[in-house]
Amino acid sequence: MEIKKNYELAPLTTFKVSGRAEFFVAVKNKRELLAALNWAEAAKLPVWFFSGGSNILFSGNQVKGLVIKISGERYSIKGRVIAAWAGTGLTKLAKAAGEQGLTGLEWAYGVPGSLGGAVRGNAGAYGSEIASAVTEAAAYDFKKNKFVKLTNRACRFGYRQSIFKQNKNLIILHVKLKLNSGEPAEIKNLAGANFHHRLATKPKQPSAGCIFKNLEYKNLLKANPALARELAAKGLVRGGKIGVGYLIDRLGLKGKTCGGAKVSQRHANFIVNTGKATAADIKSLINLIKKEIKNKHKINLEEEIQYFGN
Ligand SMILES: Cc1cc2nc3c(=O)[nH]c(=O)nc-3n(C[C@H](O)[C@H](O)[C@H](O)COP(=O)(O)OP(=O)(O)OC[C@H]3O[C@@H](n4cnc5c(N)ncnc54)[C@H](O)[C@@H]3O)c2cc1C
Repeated sequence: MEIKKNYELAPLTTFKVSGRAEFFVAVKNKRELLAALNWAEAAKLPVWFFSGGSNILFSGNQVKGLVIKISGERYSIKGRVIAAWAGTGLTKLAKAAGEQGLTGLEWAYGVPGSLGGAVRGNAGAYGSEIASAVTEAAAYDFKKNKFVKLTNRACRFGYRQSIFKQNKNLIILHVKLKLNSGEPAEIKNLAGANFHHRLATKPKQPSAGCIFKNLEYKNLLKANPALARELAAKGLVRGGKIGVGYLIDRLGLKGKTCGGAKVSQRHANFIVNTGKATAADIKSLINLIKKEIKNKHKINLEEEIQYFGN
């Protein structure tokens, strides 16, 4: 385990936007994680952690303190239960589950993040989410210096929400998923269809996935009943949610640029890095979209991506 100084994080993220860690270390097990945390505590430095880097945007050019990447991939499958280290890739687990005839992760093929990141944000797609499969998450509370095990209920999952988003001192280490038995050919077909839909509809340039959370119909009914009813009449409410991309597109913001950042032409809820985008370019575009949506519809969009550092 080697602690590096002034380390460029761009290659470790899907946005590929520059951000330097004052100190950086990659850890692949509990022992290395504890050693890294002890090092930061002794040096009186703040700690930041990430894993797949597919849902983060740097708050500035430099992240002060120690940035820890949860890396390494390990999992085992016994019956219908998958137990995995948090750094394990979601797509890898979805593939392994499918090969064992386990259904429930077909939505996750092609999602670029880790299991830990997915549990923290209750990642999901195609009407499913990771919360339906989680039976237990083991985490380390680095402020209280203790290990905790949380049941599904204790994880307090909601739409792109969990206790791990509320309590930033909890680092997820291991997760147990319980899936259902299925027909391997059917699982493969569904996963393949989802994956091809993903390839066809999501931008190919670097991004961090959807920038904003979709709108929950029940909340929109309170905030802007006329808009809620209009979108419902157009058949745009799916699984109780309305895609924010539709509203961004309708405001004519597809293709809008700020420096090297651009609202994707393919999917308006994605901002892409056209080559030399800075975190500030992307943040300006996010603010512009929020402002225009607020002016037009009197609603506040909420970021799904996570700002990282300082
Ligand atoms: C092209 C593309 C498509 C995507 N499609 C989807 C999709 O369909 N559905 C969806 O939900 N998301 C999607 N995403 C977003 C992202 O891939 C997921 O949210 C993913 O689960 C995030 O995991 P990560 O490891 O990359 O998190 P990171 O980006 O590394 O981190 C995100 C946040 O989680 C925290 N975190 C990371 N690891 C841990 C841990 N072990 N314990 C506690 N906190 C942790 C970090 O501190 C940070 O705040 C997409 C992204 C891209 C680029």
